[in-house]
Amino acid sequence: MHDLACPHCEPNPTENELRTGVVRFGFFIRAVDQKRHQRYRCRRCGRTFSSATYSPSFRQKKRHLNGLVMMYYASGVSQRRLAINLRVNRKTIVRKFEFLAKWAELFSKADLNNFAPATDVLIDELETFEHTRLKPLSVLVAIEKGRRILGFTIAQHPARGPKAAFSRVKYGPRRDTRRGAREKLFEELSPHISPHAEVCSDLCPHYGPSIRKFFPEATHKVFKGRKAAVIGQGELKVGGFDPLFDINHTLAMLRANVNRLFRRTWNTTKKAQRLHQHLAIYVLFHNWKLVNPMPNAIIV
Ligand SMILES: [Zn+2]
Repeated sequence: MHDLACPHCEPNPTENELRTGVVRFGFFIRAVDQKRHQRYRCRRCGRTFSSATYSPSFRQKKRHLNGLVMMYYASGVSQRRLAINLRVNRKTIVRKFEFLAKWAELFSKADLNNFAPATDVLIDELETFEHTRLKPLSVLVAIEKGRRILGFTIAQHPARGPKAAFSRVKYGPRRDTRRGAREKLFEELSPHISPHAEVCSDLCPHYGPSIRKFFPEATHKVFKGRKAAVIGQGELKVGGFDPLFDINHTLAMLRANVNRLFRRTWNTTKKAQRLHQHLAIYVLFHNWKLVNPMPNAIIV
């Protein structure tokens, strides 16, 4: 008799039903990697399942590629090039992208609990677009000093400057969702940021009210934005010591490693949702492999 929960039955079995339990029911050798898996039979519903049923990569035929796909997605390689280099169909790569993004997001959320609430926080935004520059997107990133990414959020806003009028004519009015997205991110991060934290940002006037709303006892320090250095992906700044260096460097790493954020890229984001998924993959790789390397971390 085993304590395993039957995946086919009701999620909350009564005491009596638990007692009937599941029993061992032979085993099988998984074809794709020759691993032995125990099979079980539920005495309540009579259906069977196995120790492989609970794996995140259940029923995947190319599970051995998951780690590689994750690594390359977080290292600026495009979907087409991945398919060619790994000798698989492009649809396999697209499916893995969605699978990895889903798990990366769950892992990153769970990983926040492994750290004490952050006391030194830096926030900033990165500008990009979906489909055309007439439809701009803004990615707000919050990090802890030392460059661990705490979270990010993507919002849309109307085009600015000379493109604004043309954008309205061609695509109609575009809503500004930055405030809602920012406050949702702050709310999600509030258990992981110390109430007395020091939050540093540039002069953007929108941050102050949101910070005071969710972290009323925190100190908000603002620094004047500086001209971008020629090197540094437009994110690193000229003029010696930069108090916002950690966040600027993190944004530069996003620009250098997420191909849809490259400057002058032709791998543009077609949908904001895809950018969100890609960033989720990058963030986990960044936190686990680049900033605070965990050599034995098995990502999927
Ligand atoms: Zn059952």
